[in-house]
Order: sequence, then structure tokens, then C-alpha cells
Amino acid sequence: MVESLRILTEKKVLSEYSKDAGIRTIEPRAVFVAEDEGDLLQVIRRANLDGVPITPRGSGTSIPDQSVGSGYVVVQAQKEVQISGREFQCTPAVIKADQNSTLEQSNLWMPVDPSSYRACSIGGMVSNNSAGARTLKYGSTLEYVKELTVVLPEEGRRVVKALPLDEALHGDGSTRKVANLMVENWKTILHERPKTTKNSSGYRLERLIHDGLFDLPRLFVGSEGTLGLISRITCQARGRPPLRSLMVVSIDSLKDMEVVVEELRVSKPSAVELLDKSIFLKARRGDLLRQFRGSQKGYLVYAEIEGKDESELQRAFEQIASNEKLAEFDPFLLTDPGEMSKAWETRDLTLTIAGEMRSGNRYPVPGIEDLVVPPGKLRDILAFLETTFADLGLEFISYGHAGDANLHVRPLLDMSDGRDNKLHREIMRNCFEAVWKMGGSITGEHGDGLLRAEYVKEQYVETYELMVQIKEIYDPKWLMNPGVKLQRP
Ligand SMILES: Cc1cc2nc3c(=O)[nH]c(=O)nc-3n(C[C@H](O)[C@H](O)[C@H](O)COP(=O)(O)OP(=O)(O)OC[C@H]3O[C@@H](n4cnc5c(N)ncnc54)[C@H](O)[C@@H]3O)c2cc1C
Repeated sequence: MVESLRILTEKKVLSEYSKDAGIRTIEPRAVFVAEDEGDLLQVIRRANLDGVPITPRGSGTSIPDQSVGSGYVVVQAQKEVQISGREFQCTPAVIKADQNSTLEQSNLWMPVDPSSYRACSIGGMVSNNSAGARTLKYGSTLEYVKELTVVLPEEGRRVVKALPLDEALHGDGSTRKVANLMVENWKTILHERPKTTKNSSGYRLERLIHDGLFDLPRLFVGSEGTLGLISRITCQARGRPPLRSLMVVSIDSLKDMEVVVEELRVSKPSAVELLDKSIFLKARRGDLLRQFRGSQKGYLVYAEIEGKDESELQRAFEQIASNEKLAEFDPFLLTDPGEMSKAWETRDLTLTIAGEMRSGNRYPVPGIEDLVVPPGKLRDILAFLETTFADLGLEFISYGHAGDANLHVRPLLDMSDGRDNKLHREIMRNCFEAVWKMGGSITGEHGDGLLRAEYVKEQYVETYELMVQIKEIYDPKWLMNPGVKLQRP
């Protein structure tokens, strides 16, 4: 047998893999580069033998400290996409932008479009249940995953797919155990789920049983590498997107946002996004705003409209334009593909540009990051954020997926200053407590990571123990990304 597993321990490599897009720096003991499932099995054997934890890693663009760990960091080298009818199968290392191009050649499309699509991997998207601007209409990654091949710490290689619930309840070992736990706790799970349109906190238990099926792949979607290594992914694709136009509304303050978003949602847009113009100005990228009408103050709200032809698009625009409440804000329409793609690029660049902002030694710090509340609570959460940061005399940035009431929020802090560090923790707690009171979730798309794991047990007061039980069915020794998402009791 040819040995294909590479084990890298050079200082330079370890240093490169000691960071992702989060806050922490954690140097791994070694980086394993696997070519195939045989290699992944070897890594698992070795980790079991050495008692060293495994951190699976894709492109390392995750934000709440998820793809860094002190043990063995595992990356997969193979990049393959195969299309079969309306489904595609790929290896986890495939980059989302490359998957888009491959599907496009067959007139297919997978609508989940994180702003990091040029860099992030499909494995990372699946493991984080990633989402994007069009999740408002098309859902998150979870909706598209049909089947996964996983390499588990105790069971080795397994193919997981949805089964009739009855079959799962009487099926093989781990599937039967999880299915039975789900049925026993189903009422509590439904009662406790966040009342939001998006969620990436904890395991997505409330989505595992549907249409008489036990949909086990959905347990692994959003599990942040805490259950096993994903080695193959089968997803549903859709036909190419219909025609689109982009409505842009300029507002002076966040107070106007709820009205605008509520009115726009009536027309069932595919995306409703919020951009804060001050981010671009403070990062000296005001040039990007010249493409839009109006002053350089305040915010922009994008609403993407889809239609099967020009006349349907025109009707949708007229419906929005005739809305008296919206007309006050003088909405304007972009229809030229070049203009629209420039506008979307500006939106996709927001986080990268925000990273360039400085106020003295302070910079935008992730943590609160991507809180989500029920859509009817958008006004309440915005008012809470404005008051909280005004009282603290702190600058903050806020932008994101307004249609889903999923906001990216970062206070400007200096994390090398002990007082700011303490303040950061206090702000996170205050914001999350407000979110919980509103029926929301601490994360709509980026996941819990190491950074937010301590809050997951408060997010899920009644079902946290159940999540721990489920983790231990697959990973009793806590080898897989320990400390991420769940904390060992
Ligand atoms: C500028 C910027 C913009 C972003 N925009 C968005 C956005 O719009 N929407 C959004 O949802 N997110 C966004 N993100 C967050 C991030 O890009 C996504 O979560 C992305 O899908 C992570 O992919 P990755 O390949 O970088 O994964 P990584 O960061 O490498 O890993 C993410 C998680 O997946 C696990 N994992 C990776 N591969 C495997 C595998 N094969 N088996 C098991 N577990 C695995 C890791 O252990 C980790 O827990 C953004 C990040 C940045 C920096």
C-alpha cells in the first residue's frame, strides 16, 4: 500500500495553522494532510492511540475559533466534484467558488452563498451550516445536504443518509440510540428551539425528524467537527437562478430599518441585506459607495427581487415602488448585471473592509458576531444595541442579513488591553441575554466555536445534556474538536 498521509511538524506550518479568522492562536502538535478515507482512518487510529484530539479543518475562514486546536489538525487534499442529475457529490476541500463554476457548466446552482465563497470549503460550510444573503428565500446549507460519508472515532467509515424514522428506531447501534433519544425528547426539543429563521448554535436537533424521516446527515451539518471527519458530501442542487434585479433603499438611521425591512419582506425578496456606510468611510473605502445615490451617511438596504422574466421583475418593482411607506425612502433599482455584481461585491467585502477599521488601538472584535432574533424583534434588538453601545461610549459596526434579523455586530475594542477584554465578555453576556429574552440564538450562521461554547448551555437549558449524550455516542473520548460547541461535563 502506498503511504499517502503526510504529517507536517515544521514550525512555519504549525504557526500557519495556529490561526483561523477568529481571535485565538493555538499551535497544533502536527498537521495531517489526508488524501483519502484510508488516511483519515489512520489519523483516527493514531489520535486514539496517542490520546490526542483532532481538529478538522477546511480553509480556516471560520470566526469563533473553530478550526484551531492543540492536537492534530486534519486537512484533506482531494478536490473533486461530480454531478449526477440534480445532485452533486464532492470532497470537503472543494472551494465554494469552484463548486459554483462546476455546477454552472451544467446549468445548476447551490444557492447558499457565504460572503467568504472565494475561500471557504464545502466541508467547512457543511460543518458550520453556513448561510448567506439568499438564505432568506433558499435556506442554509442544511437544506441541501442529502448524504455524508463520515469517518468516526469509534465506528470508522460510515455513510449517513435519511431513513424512515421507524427503520432508524430499530436500526444499527448509534443510529438507533440517537433516533430513540430524539423521539423521547422531541417535545422538549421543539419547545426550546430558537424562534428564528436561521440558527447555527448547538446541534440542529429540531431539524432531524421531518416527513416521517430520521435525517441523520442534519446532525453532522453544523456540528463543527465535533462528531467525526466528513469525507464526502452529496448535495441537492437547483436549476440556474432566475432573472434578478436589486432594489436599493438608503436610510439615515437604524430606526427606519424595521419599517423598510417589513415592507420589503411583503414582496418575498430573495435577500434583504443591511450595509453600514460608515464602515466603508472609516476604512477609507468610500469610493465603493459612489455607485449608490444619496449621501454618504447612514445605511443601505438591498432587496433582491427575482422573476421568471422581465415583466415579472417589473411588476415586483412597481409593487414595491407603489408602497407608500417605502416611497418615502426613494428606493432605486439596479438591473444592469455589471452594476448589480459591483453592488454585491461591496456587500461581500464588508467584513474584510471592516477588519481594516481602527479607532486608536481599537478594532472590530468578533464575539457577538452574528446574533439572530425572530424577524418581529428586529426593532427591539437594534434599539438594545444602540442603547448598550451608547451607554458604554463604544463604537460598533452592524450590518448583515436584515431580512432574517441576523446581524453581524462587532464592538471596537483593544483586546490587548485587559479592561477591554473584560468589557468584551460583559458585552457578549449582555447581548446574548437580550437575544435569549427575544427567543433568538447567539449564532445565525458562524457557529459556536471555542469562543461561544460556554453560552451554548444557556442557549439550550433543557437540551444541552441531550446534545452531550449524542456527542458521546459518536465520540465518547471527546477526541473530535473538544471544547468547540460543547464543554466536557
Ligand atoms: C470575510 C468573511 C466572510 C464570511 N461570510 C460568511 C457568510 O456570509 N456566511 C457564513 O455562514 N459564514 C461566513 N463566514 C464564516 C466562514 O467563512 C464559514 O463558516 C465557512 O463556511 C467556513 O469554511 P472553511 O472551509 O473556512 O472552514 P474552517 O474554518 O476550516 O472550519 C469550519 C468548521 O468546520 C469544521 N470542518 C471543516 N472541514 C471539516 C470536515 N471535513 N469534517 C468535519 N469537520 C470539518 C472545522 O473543524 C470547523 O469547526 C465568513 C468568514 C469571513 C472571514
